[in-house]
Amino acid sequence: HSGVDYESFRKAFYVEVPEITRMTAEEVKKYREELEGIAVRGKNCPKPIKTWAHCGVAKKIFEALKKHNFEKPTPIQAQAIPAIMSGRDTIGIAKTGSGKTLAFVLPMLRHIMDQPPLSDTDGPIALIMGPTRELVMQIGKETKKFTKSLNLRVTCVYGGTGISEQIAELKRGAEIIVCTPGRMIDMLTANNGRVTNLRRVTYVVLDEADRMFDMGFEPQVMKIIDNVRPDRQVVMFSATFPRQMEALARRILNKPIEIQVGGRSVVCKDVEQHIIVIEEDQKFLKLLEILGHYYDEGNTIIFVDKQENADTLLKDLMKASYSCMALHGGIDQYDRDSNIVDFKNGKIKILIATSVAARGLDVKHMILVVNYDCPNHYEDYVHRCGRTGRAGNKGYAYTFITKEQERFSGDIVRALESSSVEVPPELDTMWVRYRAKQAAEGKKVHTGGGYSGKGFKFDENEAIAAS
Ligand code: ADP
Ligand code: MG
Repeated sequence: HSGVDYESFRKAFYVEVPEITRMTAEEVKKYREELEGIAVRGKNCPKPIKTWAHCGVAKKIFEALKKHNFEKPTPIQAQAIPAIMSGRDTIGIAKTGSGKTLAFVLPMLRHIMDQPPLSDTDGPIALIMGPTRELVMQIGKETKKFTKSLNLRVTCVYGGTGISEQIAELKRGAEIIVCTPGRMIDMLTANNGRVTNLRRVTYVVLDEADRMFDMGFEPQVMKIIDNVRPDRQVVMFSATFPRQMEALARRILNKPIEIQVGGRSVVCKDVEQHIIVIEEDQKFLKLLEILGHYYDEGNTIIFVDKQENADTLLKDLMKASYSCMALHGGIDQYDRDSNIVDFKNGKIKILIATSVAARGLDVKHMILVVNYDCPNHYEDYVHRCGRTGRAGNKGYAYTFITKEQERFSGDIVRALESSSVEVPPELDTMWVRYRAKQAAEGKKVHTGGGYSGKGFKFDENEAIAAS
């Protein structure tokens, strides 16, 4: 980057209106609570806004907002928009459906409009990355609601379809690219870099960062980000913030503001949670015992951590005369869809899945979840257990953990505690032993994610500012 002569650019556009300035610290606190409980971390986070006018949107955008019946900002928008428009790197965490897209799109439009038009050879000004083609298309659609009247161009770049059309579109130029990381790298390297480039990129969004992480896109994301000028603005949005993402966040965000709407997810009271400390070779027998108990009562989902394990378990259960099916990345879309239909209508009552494959799967009457392979972090445990006990129905979750998996015990202890379930002594012993071992080796142990207790801090100064 030192060899490149980048134009200077502006990131901070936010002007607080007097109505907001007048709010006292006490009022801000109360208002954040009203906004579904917003928690913020990081230095000098602006106060949340109440109306679109408070973030000074252009008249054309205001009209588009009205046209789509977006009356006022949702909680994540109310807090994230002023933060991002102040030029700050921002992490926004809020559940699915809370309006995260607009929270990064509106500040992005202001950011782009401030810059000189693209020349023939310029790449985009804003780069939005997401994990899947579906999400990319969805973001593209949401963005286009606003860009038409502003004469800005949006191009979606994703795999699984012909590359030539996307290349042609990119060559014509676009201020905004929405992409999956893998296909974007293909585009950047195509034709010796003559298709598009990152020289003008100053605004980067990582959407559904948790899923990108789960799906293993971190190297591709890093490769792209490392090629964007260092003084860029980066915003990251996610439904959850697993601990493993902290390192990534620390590397790519500069003194971020973190905004979380709602508390950390916990397993709901309607799920009865059981933890079974067990030897690896005893797991299958134990599973049969549990299935015997619940099979007649409803659907079961069994979680494993790898495709091979799903296939092996599928064979073993079939041998034991259970009709079941597997759901993982190695099964093609058509079979997946028809399997899900059979599962939903009760033709097949047992589903063996990996966490990633089971995302977004909505099946009613799930009576039982078995974590055949122990989940390796808090969020995953909570998500998996949350597949049962829905809509007020009772559900049961069994988790197998072997002695060799001590390192996962802490997150499960934490999850049990946060849903007020007594920790079984055997599990507690594992956790104590693990901590003792780590301490003996001089290693620090941390559990949970960024949002339990005091959470993690980006650096000393941020820690002081936040307290
Ligand atoms: P998330 O990314 O948090 O899952 P989306 O950004 O996809 O959520 O938004 C969910 C839905 O809410 C979309 O249909 C979107 O058009 C709508 N929406 C977003 N912001 C608002 C708003 N301020 N008022 C009303 N609806 C909104
Ligand atoms: Mg979203």
